[in-house]
Amino acid sequence: MIALELQLHIQAYQCMAILRRLSKNHPIRPTVERDLRSWLKEYYGEKECSYYLSLLPEDQYYIFHGLRLIDKKPFQIDLVVLSMRFQLMSEVKNLSKKLIFHKDSNHVTKEFNYEEEGISNPILQVKRQKIQFVNWLRKMQMLGLPIERLAVISKSTTKVETTSDNLQIFNDLIYAESLLDKIEELECKHTKPAFSKRKLAQLVDLLLVHHHIPIPDILQTYKLSKNDIITGVICPKCQTGTMAFYSVKWHCPICEYSSKTAFFQSVDDYFLLLGPTITRKQFAEFLHIDSTSIAGHQLRSLNLPSAGSKRGTIYTLPKNQLLCPLNEKEINAYTIPTR
Ligand SMILES: [Zn+2]
Repeated sequence: MIALELQLHIQAYQCMAILRRLSKNHPIRPTVERDLRSWLKEYYGEKECSYYLSLLPEDQYYIFHGLRLIDKKPFQIDLVVLSMRFQLMSEVKNLSKKLIFHKDSNHVTKEFNYEEEGISNPILQVKRQKIQFVNWLRKMQMLGLPIERLAVISKSTTKVETTSDNLQIFNDLIYAESLLDKIEELECKHTKPAFSKRKLAQLVDLLLVHHHIPIPDILQTYKLSKNDIITGVICPKCQTGTMAFYSVKWHCPICEYSSKTAFFQSVDDYFLLLGPTITRKQFAEFLHIDSTSIAGHQLRSLNLPSAGSKRGTIYTLPKNQLLCPLNEKEINAYTIPTR
């Protein structure tokens, strides 16, 4: 069963929020667009793997997408498959055209349109993640289940090249379409259960409790200031109108769309761009609500976790779960807004 669903990276949502809320001629837009394209590509690569894994018998495997834990420093594993006999951790790469593995330097380059560019070696990446994962499991007193690791190339059209004396990389590297064969191979290798059903369930719970995705300070990443961010409730339908609240609903002056929940995406934008907490005053300012009582009512209607009292109350997103994440269909239909 899927223990942790595949989700679009939080950085992708941040890029989308920036593109919604930055003036159309801001010079950083092309950089944000490029980064968003690469986050979406990662998501599509992991989705490819999730398709193959969805064919596994549900009662024998737990699947985690994008598990992020901390062993001194944080580490994120694209894919973890747990069974009573072994655990498989994978780094997924969705890359175009050709990958070249150089034996002597352990360096990897990708080739696209006759241009070469160095990238992080996915085999070494997953090796490092395994060291951190083992440390984490030791701390949790959960060692004992054999750990296998793999680098997975999501597209079978990506050509992998290396020299004849470096073919051992193919023990650590597979195409996503071979994932099920690899798991079958591991089943044959690990014939006896190392964990009981109960212990495995305990491990699953621990992983979920400790999984945490923080929201990075994206304004700092792109050297933007709060003043660069356009405020107000942007219409989720036409993406251009700034909505006004009256007669218990939000109304778009451009496309005439009206809705009670149209401000949800704007609240997400606030958390994605401006910080992990919001007060009623910040909420009212960001959403352009003049009435304190309406702002308080709208904010409380979100049922966000809160701390403090009266005017000093601060609200947060529970476990950084957005109010309106995109579903698979919406992600596939998403097009980067052009200037
Ligand atoms: Zn509209």
